[in-house]
Amino acid sequence: MAITKTNFINYTRCRRFGALEEIRKDKLDSKMTIEEYIKEEEKENYKEMLGTMFEETEEGETIDKTVKVDIQLEALMEYYKEVEVTAGLYIEKLFEGETIYSLDTYRQESFDFNKNGIKYLCFVDIYNENENEINIIEVKATTSRKYKKMEYSIEKEKFPLFIRTKNYYKLASDPGLSKNYPNKVENLLDRFTDVGKYMYDLSVQRFIIEGYMRENNIEKNVNYYLAVLNDEYEYDGYTENGKRVFRTDHLGNEIIDLYELNDITSMYQSKINIERQNLEKYIFESDSTPCKVGVYCALKKNTECKYKSLCFENVPEKNASFNYKRFVSFKGDGIKYNKYDLINEGYIKLDDIPENWLTSENHKIQRNCYDNNEVYINKAKIKAGLESLKYPIYHLDFETLPCPIPRFKGEHPYYQSPFEFSLHIERAPGVCDKEIDNYVFLAKTNEDERLELVKELVTRIPILETGGCMLAQNVTFEKGRIKELANIFPEYKKELLAIRESGRDLLEIIDNNKELYKSLGFDEYNCSTMNYYNNAQSGSFSIKKTLPLFTNLSYKDLEVQNGTQALVEYANYKKMTEEERKRKQAALIEYCKQDTWAMVEILKGLREAIK
Ligand code: SF4
Repeated sequence: MAITKTNFINYTRCRRFGALEEIRKDKLDSKMTIEEYIKEEEKENYKEMLGTMFEETEEGETIDKTVKVDIQLEALMEYYKEVEVTAGLYIEKLFEGETIYSLDTYRQESFDFNKNGIKYLCFVDIYNENENEINIIEVKATTSRKYKKMEYSIEKEKFPLFIRTKNYYKLASDPGLSKNYPNKVENLLDRFTDVGKYMYDLSVQRFIIEGYMRENNIEKNVNYYLAVLNDEYEYDGYTENGKRVFRTDHLGNEIIDLYELNDITSMYQSKINIERQNLEKYIFESDSTPCKVGVYCALKKNTECKYKSLCFENVPEKNASFNYKRFVSFKGDGIKYNKYDLINEGYIKLDDIPENWLTSENHKIQRNCYDNNEVYINKAKIKAGLESLKYPIYHLDFETLPCPIPRFKGEHPYYQSPFEFSLHIERAPGVCDKEIDNYVFLAKTNEDERLELVKELVTRIPILETGGCMLAQNVTFEKGRIKELANIFPEYKKELLAIRESGRDLLEIIDNNKELYKSLGFDEYNCSTMNYYNNAQSGSFSIKKTLPLFTNLSYKDLEVQNGTQALVEYANYKKMTEEERKRKQAALIEYCKQDTWAMVEILKGLREAIK
């Protein structure tokens, strides 16, 4: 049996993963239909598992529900590849000797070794070797921001956890006097934290490489590096032969930040060896019965375990025990329960939580709505919030492309590059026509159309002349984009910053804003509780949840139904025929228009609700 680095990372999540994987592979290899296959199986739970993992369509097509096609990843693939090539070029410039890297995994340098009948195998993103040493470089399309932010303190003075040497960052040695230095390092040694996961990845690679070196009696010094994108790097727009070239920027930044992780990957080895023993035990026992869920299920968009639908099948989609607003954990009988603890201990639904665990007033309101099937409305606050809005209201929504590689002048890695905005102008309460009072700007190509976008934005929102306010759902996002555009296009700075300054958030009216309601004279209780709640929200105030409460509008009938689909269609422009692109552009316009019209409708619904 061969275990690749990715297998290793997945199979060691929990004892169930590997067993499910083997069942799934058996099924995929089989020539039988699912029905025949299921009949052959004696165990009831085994039937259930396949029923959850595979689905048969009416046309008889078998869909493997464990395979998630990440459309955003696919659409941005060319940019992710550009990160790898850029890192390869950077390493060639930095290190002497031979450097091997390729976008084709099978042309990358690989290592393997055997232990207890298992072949452990890994491919290396960038391999560099010179007379004295080998350099292993793992490339990740993430930014260095999270590592740069890591600090330890001695008394009240703060120090960076990673210190900069000439060409790379390196873990600061333990100063001995710092109380929190060990905790910070421990964080890096936790594979399920944001900062620890890439350290772990590289450490698994080290484990396999060291196994290979032992097996082949090779003694040469090996260094382990992580190459990530420098969040501070600013692209100057320079191209050669139509291709972006990332030169050292005006502040001396390179686009790639390199982290030398010899210490951390060495510290990780004892943990990885224990995981290796567990992995071999899990494979040998092949126990697919349910096990406890935990942080290893990684319930995040891109990292969640592919068997989530199976292991969480008893958890309702709405109003689960952890769907209390902004839930982090509950404390009951002196024990702290996070989301996974609740599920493992049988607290599954919202009303499974004992009432005496609820300490937040918002949670009590939410529970009361759930138990009594009631809608909560704080009419006085909603009325005051609505009256605090200045007209005309410019309902604004941006669509952006968070590209790993900066595409245009002035952009940084993962800059949220705006390619579309929708605007609905509400001139007085309820005075806004869906068509006449709407304007949508949409980039026609994948070229730089930001200047046109800015010109339209400041012309259509002449806030300095008309007064009023810009309104958005989660206005911090819109404000952030406007500030960035103001820095890139200083000739429009005054107008852009005026729009930004006028920004108000729809969430202030439907949910809350402590400072706003304090300034409007409300007491402490009112300032800390939400304005509106309906069970259908399931603890969330996203526009997709609040819109159906006030209107029949739905995103289901639209061709583009969410922000991810929108950026994917935009990123895929160049793969489309002219006709297809026109159709998709019409769909993008409809989608973005719906986002701002939804805000107009929600305000209308709130006015009705307080009558
Ligand atoms: S969802 Fe969680 S418990 Fe289930 S197989 Fe995946 S990691 Fe294991």
